[in-house]
Amino acid sequence: MSRFVFRNGRVFDGNDVLPASTTVVVESDRIALVTQDDVPVGEDDRVVDLDGRTLMPGMVQCHFHTGFGPDAGNAAPYLGLNMPPAYLGMVAARNAQIALDFGVTSIIGSSNGDLLDVCLKEAILLGLTKGPRVLPCTREMMASGDVADGDNRAWFMGIRNHGLVRRVDGVEAIRQAVREELGRGCEIVKLSISNGHGSHPVPDWNYYRPEEIRAAVEEAHVRGALVRAHCPTRTGIIECARAGVDIIDHADRIDDEGIETVLEAGATIAPSLLWTTRYLEFADGWDYAQGPFPIGDGFPESRARTIERLEQVRRDFDHTRSMLPKLAEAGVRLVLGDDYGFAMMPHGDYASEMDVYVQNGIAPLEVMRWATRNGAQAMGRRGERLGTIEHGKLADLIVVEGDPTSDVLVHRDPNNIRMVMKDGQVEKDLLSSDVTH
Ligand SMILES: [Zn+2]
Repeated sequence: MSRFVFRNGRVFDGNDVLPASTTVVVESDRIALVTQDDVPVGEDDRVVDLDGRTLMPGMVQCHFHTGFGPDAGNAAPYLGLNMPPAYLGMVAARNAQIALDFGVTSIIGSSNGDLLDVCLKEAILLGLTKGPRVLPCTREMMASGDVADGDNRAWFMGIRNHGLVRRVDGVEAIRQAVREELGRGCEIVKLSISNGHGSHPVPDWNYYRPEEIRAAVEEAHVRGALVRAHCPTRTGIIECARAGVDIIDHADRIDDEGIETVLEAGATIAPSLLWTTRYLEFADGWDYAQGPFPIGDGFPESRARTIERLEQVRRDFDHTRSMLPKLAEAGVRLVLGDDYGFAMMPHGDYASEMDVYVQNGIAPLEVMRWATRNGAQAMGRRGERLGTIEHGKLADLIVVEGDPTSDVLVHRDPNNIRMVMKDGQVEKDLLSSDVTH
C-alpha cells in the first residue's frame, strides 16, 4: 500500500515541537508512524521533503458561521443573512473552501439559519464542494426580548422562519426545539444566554434561567450532541459550566470563581477577541462629522450614548484581556474561532485572531495548541482521533512555510499553507514540485 512519508522538517504534534529527526508516515486515512528512526521507503511511497517547513495537525476553527459574508465591509452589520437561502448556501461553500485553503480541516458551527451547516457537511461528504469536516450547529436559541430577537430590533437575523435566530422560552419549548433541530442533523446546539460581547456592553443578568440551560444540555447530551452558549456574563459562565454546556463562547466577564467552575466542568472557552479588537479600532477612528456611529444597537443612537456604550465595551474588553493569561495558566481549554464574515472580519483572516492572543501575553506555541489539540478536544467524541500527530490518529495534517510555533502570522498568507491533508486525502498541494516519488 502506498504511503506518505514526511521528513526533513519541523514537526509540531499539537502539544510540542518534536526532535528535528522526526519522520511521520501516513497510511490510508491515518498516521501510521511517528519516529526518529530511519524509515525505509518503498517504491509506491510518496516522500514529502519538508525542507525545514513545519508539519502540524490540521487546525480547528471552533466558532464558525458558515453563512456569514462575503466580507460585509466596514459598516454593514447584516451578516449577509438578508439574502435567500440558496445564495447563503453558496457563501457557505466558499467559506468552507477558504477555511481549507488556510489549513483548517475541522469547523464547529456556531449557529446559522436554513440548516446551512448540515447541508454544507453533506455537500462536502458528497464531494459537491471542498471543505473541512463540519460539526453542524442549530440556529441560535434566544429567549423573548433578547437584543437579537427577530421581532425585537435586529429584524434581519430572523428573516421569516429560517433566519439565524429561533425564539424559544421555557423548559418544554427548549426541549422541543433541541429535539427538532438535532433531528434534522445538527450536532451542536447554540444558546444565547445574555446580551454583550464585541459591540455590546455585558449586562449582569441573563435571559435564560439555569433550568432552561439544563434542559437543553440534557436533551443534547442524551443524543450525543454538544451545547455551546453565547455567554459573556459572570453568572452565566458559572451557570452554563454547572449545567454542562460544552463550549462557552466569549466568557467576557469571567472571574476566579468562573475559572474554577469551568475547570471543574471541563468546559471549553472560545474567547473570540478579534471582533472586539476590530470593532474598537473602528470606533476609535470614527469621524462623527460623517454621521452617527454605524454599528450599534440596531437604531441610530446619539453621540453621547455611543460614547458611553463604547466605554463600557472597552471596560469589558480590558477585563477579558487581563484574564486571558490567567485562564491559560489555570489550564482552561481555550480555542480559536470568531465571527468571520461579519463587518471587518473576512473569512480566512485567522492569523489576526491568533495574533491578538500573542499580543495579550500568550506564547505562539500555546496558541498553536489551541488551534489544534484543544480544538479537537472541543469537538467531543468527534474529535477524539484529531488534533495531534500520534500513531493511529486520522491524517489531518498541514505543511506550513516557516515556524508557526514562534510566529503565528505565517498563517496570514494562504501560500504559506503548502499542503493540506484531510483523512489522508490531499486537499491542497503547493509542494508537488518538491515531491519525489
Ligand atoms: Zn458568533
